Amino acid sequence: MSTSTRFTLTQKQIPTHWYNLLADFPKPLPPPLHPGTKQPVGPDALAAIFPENLIRQEVCTDRWVEIPEEVRDIYALWRPTPLLRAVRLEKALQTPAHIYYKYEGGSPAGSHKPNTAVPQAYYNKQAGTKRLATETGAGQWGSSLALACRLFGLECTVYMVRVSFDHKPYRKMMMQTWGAEVFASPSNRTEFGRKLLKEDPKCPGSLGIAISEAVEDTVKTPGTKYALGSVLNHVCLHQSVIGQETIQQMELAGEEPDVIIGCVGGGSNFAGIAFPFIHQKITAGKKYRIVAVEPSSCASMTKGELRYDFGDTAQTTPLMWMHTLGHDFIPPTIHAGGLRYHGMAPMVSHAHDLGLVDAVAYPQTKVFEAAVLFARTEGIIPAPESSHAIRAAVDEALAARQEGKKRVIVFNLSGHGMLDLSSYDAYLAGQLTDE
Ligand SMILES: *Cc1c(COP(=O)(O)O)cnc(C)c1O
Repeated sequence: MSTSTRFTLTQKQIPTHWYNLLADFPKPLPPPLHPGTKQPVGPDALAAIFPENLIRQEVCTDRWVEIPEEVRDIYALWRPTPLLRAVRLEKALQTPAHIYYKYEGGSPAGSHKPNTAVPQAYYNKQAGTKRLATETGAGQWGSSLALACRLFGLECTVYMVRVSFDHKPYRKMMMQTWGAEVFASPSNRTEFGRKLLKEDPKCPGSLGIAISEAVEDTVKTPGTKYALGSVLNHVCLHQSVIGQETIQQMELAGEEPDVIIGCVGGGSNFAGIAFPFIHQKITAGKKYRIVAVEPSSCASMTKGELRYDFGDTAQTTPLMWMHTLGHDFIPPTIHAGGLRYHGMAPMVSHAHDLGLVDAVAYPQTKVFEAAVLFARTEGIIPAPESSHAIRAAVDEALAARQEGKKRVIVFNLSGHGMLDLSSYDAYLAGQLTDE
């Protein structure tokens, strides 16, 4: 076999700027609103929880935002990430499609999340923050922020959704190894957590609840700021390194994609791979089909409403314009913990509303079927979250086979599944069910 299947860039080719889709939306994104007055909130409404430099970035509409040198230096620990062609998967599917995947699982935390954790810690350090508080679902975000805080000398406190804290202890150990303190949420450290525990001592928790706890901790503790691993505009901005590198690598491969795919929880890794391609769609008339993939059991895009809603369960955040299942929705305990969020990033929601992206949903058994096929052909054991994107890529490749036509498919493999083996165990034992 002589065709190349792995497309790598040099350290110099790490993007120098983040790409901001806010500059290119044909209609502006509806702004966050104050829950009481229903008027747009000014940047100062966020000042209690975020540093000023990140608030500026959140509302910034510059198309290109320079990446600080210190951040690029840390990116170089694992970036540029490789793009691979999944020739063995193509063969197993007997498809004329070409399937490419961008692999973000090689970061120290094992996912795309350090792409934003590092700049968030950097900007907080610049702003004089001493400690960051945050929430985490399955632990990918908490571990990414724990790492980033350590690299910039910040303290880190993580509220971890209780089901994951109990059933997926390994990322908790990673966080502690990097020096963070970790609490199961709901916890007795906050008023909101104590209230929920009183109502239901076995409350499994949710991302919305954990966010409320982290925000309460932040506003009550001097020197502390809050960091969010998805959903917000500045997070989508930071993740744009993924798609920018992918565009360079598809050029190396000498192909133009027909379909671009990412899984969606809060929407950040999808934004990362998709937004630079949407830039080309808007400015260069490209005809890509761009697909967001979510779990059927927490389907904010395909089943939720597009409206203003709170980002958290305790209704402490401003109202955000997004696809939502309702801020009090507690998703079932599916194995893709990183996709258990009631809402969708406003930027991703808006892109969907404008017809720039499509959305599909899959039940978890279909997702694990594709994950195991991927592991058995390409080797990498994918994160259950990322496997939603694999499922959609496989179905695109099967549709191409049906049509007897080539189709070039690129998906983001947002992380590895080496710490999610218990869910593979359940799947292989036939114990996973769909609702
Ligand atoms: C957190 C996570 C997701 C979901 O979050 P997004 O913000 O939607 O990207 C997907 N994949 C992996 C590996 C994750 O860790």
